[in-house]
Amino acid sequence: MNVYYEQDADLGYLQGKNIAVLGYGSQGHAHALNLKESGLNVRVGLRTDSASCQKARAAGLQVDTIADAVKWADVVMVLLPDQYQKAIYDSEIAPNMEPGNTLAFAHGFNIHYKQIVPPDTINVIMIAPKSPGHLVRRTFTEGNGVPCLIAIHHDATGEAKQQALAWAKGLGGAKAGVIETTIKNETETDLFGEQAVLCGGSAELIKAGFETLVEAGYPEELAYFECMHELKLIVDLFYEGGLSRMNYSVSDTAEYGGMTRGPRLITPAVKAEMKKILEEVQDGRFAKEFIDECNGGYKNLNRLRKENSSHPIETVGAKLRNMMSWLIKK
Ligand code: NDP
Ligand code: MG
Ligand code: MG
Repeated sequence: MNVYYEQDADLGYLQGKNIAVLGYGSQGHAHALNLKESGLNVRVGLRTDSASCQKARAAGLQVDTIADAVKWADVVMVLLPDQYQKAIYDSEIAPNMEPGNTLAFAHGFNIHYKQIVPPDTINVIMIAPKSPGHLVRRTFTEGNGVPCLIAIHHDATGEAKQQALAWAKGLGGAKAGVIETTIKNETETDLFGEQAVLCGGSAELIKAGFETLVEAGYPEELAYFECMHELKLIVDLFYEGGLSRMNYSVSDTAEYGGMTRGPRLITPAVKAEMKKILEEVQDGRFAKEFIDECNGGYKNLNRLRKENSSHPIETVGAKLRNMMSWLIKK
């Protein structure tokens, strides 16, 4: 597998081009600001009543409507929520793209599941930072970057790959490593990862651990520190040096207890369920369910959000985090 670094990418493929970043949310603000500070000519496209307009202007960015930004741009990066991209593409993006332009995404959902089917007169590329947007920004301001995946869905001009590499470099990603993949592989691994491990698996593991201690009569504060707070410290060790670094750093007691008890939790039955989750991603069942959920007004999502935010770990956690002055208050 090829991994690209700074010397493999040439910002020249984007210099002198008009670059529109649509959306100024988690990813949008990071892409717009990082690319601008990398010397590129960036404008932000937002809906007319956008609450983010002020923020983007205060950061020194020119803001246009989505339609005007697309009309002006040679390269358009779509950083809007996945579930709204199709409608906005149909009404404001597609009518304003010209042959030879480039359409870019940070996640392959809409291309892979054919919600958006661009004409073959334009380049279609993906640059997917493997990180939340706020860290894409923070690591850049610290002089570093986050790893990125790139994919070339369609190369109309012969420069699609060079542009994707240049974008990743402008974001700071070429400092950490840029891997070329396909839209299919990015989309399916991304959805599986967030469902099984990163968001779904980890949150349920935390809640189950917390509930087990509290139901056995231990104080909520102890349970919070043990099952949620400390997890960050452990994950930092994975991040820095893998499983070995974690096992090297924790006590022999923790190492032995973890290695003997962990497999009793993540049993072959858990892995069998993971395989089912992966199949639903691969055959499009998850995508269809999510699109139906959005079209139906988020009934399940709203109920689940409420259930999660009223979990006791949230109340005790908010109280304890309030005392940790180094945590940025949001
Ligand atoms: P956000 O939800 O943070 O972005 C919201 C932005 O889209 C805001 O500027 C918002 O406008 C605008 N927006 C929302 N709804 C509409 C609408 N109906 N019409 C016009 N504009 C709208 O998105 P993310 O940054 O999380 O995701 C963007 C893309 O990046 C997605 O494809 C996602 O999969 C991908 N991605 C996200 C990651 C992340 O860290 N979150 C990680 C890697 C990829 P306003 O400011 O007016 O509210
Ligand atoms: Mg994702
Ligand atoms: Mg301990």
